[in-house]
Amino acid sequence: MKIIDRLNEERIHISFEVFPPKTNEGFDKVIAAVDAMAQLNPAFISVTYGAGGGTSRNTGKIASHIKEDLDTLSLAHLTCASSTKEEVQRVIEDLKELGIENILALRGDIPERINFPDTDRFRYACELVEEIRRHGDFCIGAACYPEGHVENEHKEDDIRYLKQKVDSGVDFLTTQMFFDNDVHYNFLYRIREAGITVPVLPGIMPITSASQMKKSQELSGTVFPRRFLAILDRFGSSPAAMKQAGIAYATDQIIDLLANGVKNIHIYTMNKPDVAAAIMNNLSEIIKV
Ligand code: FAD
Repeated sequence: MKIIDRLNEERIHISFEVFPPKTNEGFDKVIAAVDAMAQLNPAFISVTYGAGGGTSRNTGKIASHIKEDLDTLSLAHLTCASSTKEEVQRVIEDLKELGIENILALRGDIPERINFPDTDRFRYACELVEEIRRHGDFCIGAACYPEGHVENEHKEDDIRYLKQKVDSGVDFLTTQMFFDNDVHYNFLYRIREAGITVPVLPGIMPITSASQMKKSQELSGTVFPRRFLAILDRFGSSPAAMKQAGIAYATDQIIDLLANGVKNIHIYTMNKPDVAAAIMNNLSEIIKV
């Protein structure tokens, strides 16, 4: 089944993201986490893609396990800037052979040794979207950035390029993490004004430790609101309290989004089934409405 068909249903959908192990030794642990998360009945589970090596091969394997063994929709991430066009084409064909129907098309980080223009590589995610379309009937998702992508000085440029990306064949968008819902509402207004009409899944990251907050900030450049900083200040040094507060904060963000008409939510689980379960438990009646 295509994820877009599920997203278009008139009900609330909560989906999860997991990341593959960095080494093959960690594979079983990730599979155990994914198995536990599938029990929570998510709309789908997405699997991130690392640049090259075992991690990238594991994305397809895990996505296939989710679909075939757990009977749950899966979404395989795929990045293009770190690989040649030929390598990317091979991965798309591998995903097709594995029966994967849904791909999140991303540029990924540009390796330092690579200088564009480079005819051997796709430079932007929109080129990857076009390539995936050429390979078959996939449902294609892409990334978007409510606070703007770190490489763009002007938000208008970001939205112009986002429109171009969506027009190249994107079925739905998933956002970078954010911690202030007003940022998301403002972004939605601006992209709808720009004519981007595909479903947008807000990406919610439950922050359960002080170190995770630091990493998230470095990775995404997101701004943490005062309300979140106060939580961190008060509970950051007590792991159990911070975990509980982080789960409550993410739950609160989700409830506000749902109350304001958003019906699809993507949770960055960081491979923690207990965190995903706690949030789903907090929402157990809400998602039935
Ligand atoms: P693009 O859409 O290509 O945009 C990259 C930059 O180029 C933006 O600043 C954009 O405005 C600009 N741009 C786009 N088109 C043009 C154009 N035609 N001319 C000039 N400028 C242009 N990374 C991973 O390595 N693995 C993952 O699995 C992964 N999953 C992710 C999932 C989500 C939901 C998100 C939000 C991010 C994810 N990332 C992942 C990170 C992502 O790869 C990086 O943020 C990357 O820097 C940008 O990828 P993109 O697909 O958004 O790129």
